[in-house]
Amino acid sequence: MPLSFRFGTVGSPKATPSKPSGTVGGIHYAASIGLDALELAWVQGVRAGETACATIKQAATETGVVLSVHAPYYINLNGDNKKWPRLRQYLIDAAHFGNLAGATDIIFHPGTYFGRPANEVLQVSIPRLQGCVDELRANGNLVTLRPEISGKAAMLGSLADVLEMSKTIPGVIPCLDFAHLHARLGDGAMNTYDEWMTALDIYRKALGDAAMQQLHIHLSGINYGPKGEKNHLIMEEADLDFRNLMRALHASNAEGRILCESPVLEVDALKFRQLWMEVSGEG
Ligand SMILES: [Zn+2]
Repeated sequence: MPLSFRFGTVGSPKATPSKPSGTVGGIHYAASIGLDALELAWVQGVRAGETACATIKQAATETGVVLSVHAPYYINLNGDNKKWPRLRQYLIDAAHFGNLAGATDIIFHPGTYFGRPANEVLQVSIPRLQGCVDELRANGNLVTLRPEISGKAAMLGSLADVLEMSKTIPGVIPCLDFAHLHARLGDGAMNTYDEWMTALDIYRKALGDAAMQQLHIHLSGINYGPKGEKNHLIMEEADLDFRNLMRALHASNAEGRILCESPVLEVDALKFRQLWMEVSGEG
């Protein structure tokens, strides 16, 4: 029986050998150590061409590793009107080449509030995101766009924000970053079984049971201050209660992918997988 969650890393595993190098090597190495998902970290820009994408897709098919793409950091759904055409192109390119590479999900940071209220910002952001989805669909691209929960209270991307985008636009579903969710308010909240059950219940009510079976989760330890996230941490150095998070996911009948962003990537991804098997009794 396959596990309810696939596990992998954001970016190729650290110990990926030099041959074959790059993403193809990362896919093969991930599969060889028991991981079955990988998020391509196109965070500084989309540089993969059509040939490279075809090679990546072939490696994923051969190994059974499922792919997603982390789109460039520069996207900002709330960027000013002049900049918006350039900003949206990062998302369109990530989705276009990601699709060619066989990725099904495109993860992106929604942007910043620029000090304005969330509801005003969403009034600008949602039609813009809808426009991106419309363009992709018109080109036959069926990828899911995943706005990620942000790690700072000043950034667009609260749970409520990403749920609002997802409720409004078919084809948009959140990326649940539980480290960011915990760090966001800077007060240590979102770190107990009950808080996670409440959040997952809100998620289910907003998006339905089907969305619970296709969660896309980012996970790592996290260092934070009053303004939110500072940097990712390895599992042992973090205050995040990973076991109780897994318990809450299990009690919610959740399924999907868990991608590790800790500094030791695959080491912690395999620990998350082990923890999931212990908590769920699967495997
Ligand atoms: Zn991210």
